[in-house]
Amino acid sequence: MAGENKNIKDRKTSPSSQIYWAGGTPSLVILGGGESGAGTAILGKKQGFEVFVSDKGKIKDKYKEVLEHIEVEWEELKHSEARILNADVVMKSPGIPDNLPLVLKLKEKGIPVISEIEFASEFTSAKIIGVTGSNGKTTTTRFIHHILEAGGISAGMAGNIGDSFAKQVAETNPDWFVLELSSFQLDGIVNFRPNIAVLTNITPDHLDRYEYKLENYVASKFRITENQEEEDFFIFDADDEIVWDKLKSYPIKAQRLPFSLQQKIESGAYLANKEIIVTTKNNQFNMPTSTLGLQGKHNAKNAMAAATVAQLLRIRKETIRESMESFQGVEHRLEKVLKINNVQYINDSKATNVNATFYALESMETETVWIVGGTDKGNIYDDLLPLVNEKVKAIICLGIENSKLIKTFGNCVDTMLETQSMKEAVHMAYGLAEKGNSVLLSPACASFDLFENYEDRGRQFKEAVRNL
Ligand code: ADP
Repeated sequence: MAGENKNIKDRKTSPSSQIYWAGGTPSLVILGGGESGAGTAILGKKQGFEVFVSDKGKIKDKYKEVLEHIEVEWEELKHSEARILNADVVMKSPGIPDNLPLVLKLKEKGIPVISEIEFASEFTSAKIIGVTGSNGKTTTTRFIHHILEAGGISAGMAGNIGDSFAKQVAETNPDWFVLELSSFQLDGIVNFRPNIAVLTNITPDHLDRYEYKLENYVASKFRITENQEEEDFFIFDADDEIVWDKLKSYPIKAQRLPFSLQQKIESGAYLANKEIIVTTKNNQFNMPTSTLGLQGKHNAKNAMAAATVAQLLRIRKETIRESMESFQGVEHRLEKVLKINNVQYINDSKATNVNATFYALESMETETVWIVGGTDKGNIYDDLLPLVNEKVKAIICLGIENSKLIKTFGNCVDTMLETQSMKEAVHMAYGLAEKGNSVLLSPACASFDLFENYEDRGRQFKEAVRNL
């Protein structure tokens, strides 16, 4: 095997190491005793750190058991500042904001505060594919992993998915890791350098953590490529204006492989005559979008990103094609639940922002009864108006506060109903939908007003549909 594949396979991810400690037994403090905290404790202990876990909230029993089993000290419902401020290095869980006074004090003292991804990547020689973006991270990460597995490549999958990256680094030794990376994980990197970085798109989200400044959020996403070198690859959405805008001023060393639905791309991926065409160096791959397991334009983009990665790894074209056909997507993402009386019920509970719902509505091929609403994160719905006018016959608002939805869409449809119960929402939809229609749950909002989380919302939807 020659060419680009050899390059990326030969380079170890872990750079010449680190800022951490001067000598003796290094001490690692972990802020947050959840999945990434417990995983970092396992890895830290294995690597000879003296580890202490501190959580301002309660630590779940399953993680306490892990910590006790590996004999790591922990505390909950408080942070013992003096001890924490004595650390050589601190791993901060992604949920803890950067402006927490304790975090600021650590930084003032010059103690490195890093993310689990940064810490764990130091201790693996596996090559890394990092996936970030506002939408499509989970789908694209799983998509890539699915193809790698089919191609017989030993690959772990981590990040916001399943067991933490740190735990997997401690316990497994694959050739590759595919990592789903949130902007919070990227905020805490220093040397982290993925061999292949994928940026699915950028739309305003989580701005509360970025001083309500889009540029801060964009900068955070771009950190995925910050440490990349010439032999690395940066795969990104060429149709995304925010990404293009940033690229004008951002010095990227990695080789660029954009994907686009709108323009021909010489090096990268694009769509022509309903075919995906991927070109990397002298290698070309193509397949029709009609045979993709996942439908919708956004999934064509995710598929292009995944196929580009697969091409770089020189997976056989036939294998790429087959695995693109067999990939069935992820629960709660445009998930087809059931067809009842020839009405298709679709669970897109993970659509917690307007952009995700935009793609859901766009992919609807039949008249749709749309269930929308929840905790509004400052949504601007205007982009959805043409799609709602074209495709939606009735709207069911499922939220405590629905006035903005009613104001925006009240004139687009004849029927607009409100409820605060999923069961009732599904019954209303059942009453409104006619043969050949679809019922789509795509809330464009977070779920916390009425549900535990988006999974709970999606499960309640599916249960209500199954009980119709
Ligand atoms: P993330 O992990 O970034 O939240 P998911 O793969 O879980 O992304 O998808 C979240 C929501 O966004 C779902 O409603 C899904 O249908 C939609 N989605 C998936 N891929 C894309 C994309 N490339 N662009 C826009 N929306 C997308």
